[in-house]
Amino acid sequence: MPMPPNYVDLHCHLDLYPDFMSAVQDAERAAVYTLTMTTTPKAWPRNREVTEATHYVRAALGLHPQLVHERAHEISLWDQYLPEARYVGEVGIDAGPRYYRSLDLQKEVFVHVLQGCARHGDKILSVHSVRSAKLVLDLIELHLSPSKGKVVLHWFSGSASEAQRAIDLGCYFSINSEMMLNERGRRLVATLPIDRVFTETDGPFTRVNERTACPSDIVQTVETIAGVRKSSMENVKSDIVHNLRMLLEPRIS
Ligand SMILES: [Zn+2]
Repeated sequence: MPMPPNYVDLHCHLDLYPDFMSAVQDAERAAVYTLTMTTTPKAWPRNREVTEATHYVRAALGLHPQLVHERAHEISLWDQYLPEARYVGEVGIDAGPRYYRSLDLQKEVFVHVLQGCARHGDKILSVHSVRSAKLVLDLIELHLSPSKGKVVLHWFSGSASEAQRAIDLGCYFSINSEMMLNERGRRLVATLPIDRVFTETDGPFTRVNERTACPSDIVQTVETIAGVRKSSMENVKSDIVHNLRMLLEPRIS
């Protein structure tokens, strides 16, 4: 990390905003360490180029589970770019009703992603697990040991026992404001070990103050987490920046 960031947005999609460059500049200006996802490996070269000279914005190489039904063949392109990517996302499984039909294909792609990451080592993954926490954790346990890569579960909505299992498997969690609108989400945020907690916006798919959330809105997410955990904003903020330093440390295996 060149200069310590103020905040962390570990999962958003800056290239899906109406103005990609100004979304990047928003993150830079606010000194928010921002991990911007790609939904298809075709978007990787442009994302890599845009984030090459930034202080705080990094790109992740992904193949979104909601696109797998029509883009599974792009996995060969994902393989091609993997050696130049430290961050991988958005990847994972979506077993919601709209994507259930492609579940077998999604599984195949996700296993391939996990195995590729294990082979290369030292990758950091942002993982989608809608209605599939158990399956996602089963596959992580089988294919990506914590010594081979680090997993951040984005917008986790599994049960308390699944959350505990994820903690036991070494996973982290990135928390957004919308997760804390319901009791189940608040309970998760209240009980997670603080050293596994990150913040995210998942912008532009979330809203804040009746507009699209952007990385500089993370300050409000930190405030809400502090409220839910009965902690101070300063403590949560510095814990998360510390967690980022630990996450980014290369692991020699
Ligand atoms: Zn996302």
